Amino acid sequence: MRTINLFLFSLLVCGLTPMTAQTTYLHCGQLFDATSSTLKSKMTIVVEGNTITSVQEGYTRPDGDAEVVDLKDHTVMPGLMDMHVHLEGQSSPTRYMDQFRLDPPDIALRATQYTRRTLEAGFTTVRDLGGSGVNVSLRNAIDRGFIVGPRIVTAEKAIGTTGGHADPTNGMNRVLRGDPGPDDGVVNSAEDARKAVRQRYKNGADCIKITATGGVLSVAKDGSGPQFVDIELDAIVATANDYGMHTAAHAHGKEGMIRAVRAGITSIEHGTMMDQEVIDLMVEKGTYYVPTVSAGKFVAEKAQIDGYFPAIIRPKALAIGPMIQETFARAYAGGVKIAFGTDSGVSPHGENAQEFEYMVEAGMPAVEAILSATVVSAELIGRSDELGTIEEGKLADIVAVPGNPLEDISVMREVSFVMKDGKVYVD
Ligand SMILES: [Zn+2]
Repeated sequence: MRTINLFLFSLLVCGLTPMTAQTTYLHCGQLFDATSSTLKSKMTIVVEGNTITSVQEGYTRPDGDAEVVDLKDHTVMPGLMDMHVHLEGQSSPTRYMDQFRLDPPDIALRATQYTRRTLEAGFTTVRDLGGSGVNVSLRNAIDRGFIVGPRIVTAEKAIGTTGGHADPTNGMNRVLRGDPGPDDGVVNSAEDARKAVRQRYKNGADCIKITATGGVLSVAKDGSGPQFVDIELDAIVATANDYGMHTAAHAHGKEGMIRAVRAGITSIEHGTMMDQEVIDLMVEKGTYYVPTVSAGKFVAEKAQIDGYFPAIIRPKALAIGPMIQETFARAYAGGVKIAFGTDSGVSPHGENAQEFEYMVEAGMPAVEAILSATVVSAELIGRSDELGTIEEGKLADIVAVPGNPLEDISVMREVSFVMKDGKVYVD
C-alpha cells in the first residue's frame, strides 16, 4: 500500500506538475537565418523552451523576466550540422591496438570529450556514420541530458562485405578473424543484406551506412574497388527505406559509386574518383555528396610519418587523401547537392569547421558552404521541418561567431555562442 502511495505521490510531483518554459531573447547584430543568402541586421530571436517562437526586427525586450543574451557584435546562424563523423574514436598511432584493449565503457567514457568538443565547436547535430554501437548509447545519453554533446543521427555499425572496408576483423590472425556475419554488419547476399539492415534498426540505428568500395584506413590492400553487387545494394536500400532509414555509402572508386547511386543510396561519402559520368548520374538521381576534405588532408599528412599508420594503409592514404578537394571542386561545379561532412574521428573532433575553409578554397562561395552545413544537411536527414534554419517553430539550435563569415569564412572556427534545444552550452 505504501509503495502505491509513494508511486502516486511521485506521479503527482514529477509527472503532472506543469513546467514553465524558460524564455530567452537573443539580440543579434547580424542574423543569417539560412532562409535566404543574405544577412539581416539588428534582429531578435525569441526562444521558449526548446523552440524558436518568433524572429523580430530590431532589439525587442521581454515584458516579463526572460533572459536577454547580447550578441550585438556577432553573426548568429542556425546550429551547424556535420553529416559524417565517428564519435567513438580519433586517429592516433595506437588506434589499431586500442580495439584489443578497450571495452565498450572505455570507448563511451573517452567519447564524452569528443561529443563535448563537437558541440562547443558549434555543431549541434551530427550524423555518426559507423562505430561499434556505442554511438547509439552516446545519442541516448545526450538526449537524456546525462552527457553534453550534439544531437546524433547514428548508423550504429557500418555494413560491408567479407574482407570489405567495414569487415571488423580485417588484418587479424585466423583465430580472431572468425567469420563475422550480418549481425556484425558483414553481408554476402541479398538475404544477409536485409538481415544486417534489420539488425541495425533493432540495435537503435537511425540510418544505414555501407562501404561500397574499399577504404583508406582498413587493414586491406585495395581502397577503391567495388565491394557489393547490385542485388545486395538493392536489398539494403529497399529494406532501409521500409524501416524509415536513409542510406549513406562510403565510396572512393567509380564503379562502386555508380552501383550505389543507381540503387538509390541517399548520400555518397568521400567520392574520391568521381568523374563527370558519376556527377551526371548523381544530379539525375538527386544523390547528396558529403565530401570530407578534412579527412583526406589529414590522412595524407599523417602518412608521411613513419609508423603512424600500419604499412598497408600508407600508400592508400598518400594516393587517395590529396584527391578529395579537387573532387569536391568538380562536384560543386557539376551541380551535385553538397552536404557538409568532415569524417571527424579521422581528423580531430572539434576542428570540424576547418572544412568550411577547404570548401571555399575549392571555389564554393562562403554562403553556400554555410547552407550546406544547415539547410542542405537538414534535408539530407529528413529533418527540415525542425532543423536547418532560424524560423518560428524550429528547434532552438543557434550559434554565433564574431565578425562576418560571408566575408571571412575562417571565423567559423571561432564559435563563441552555442544553444542546442533551447539550452545554452557556450556563452
Ligand atoms: Zn567515415
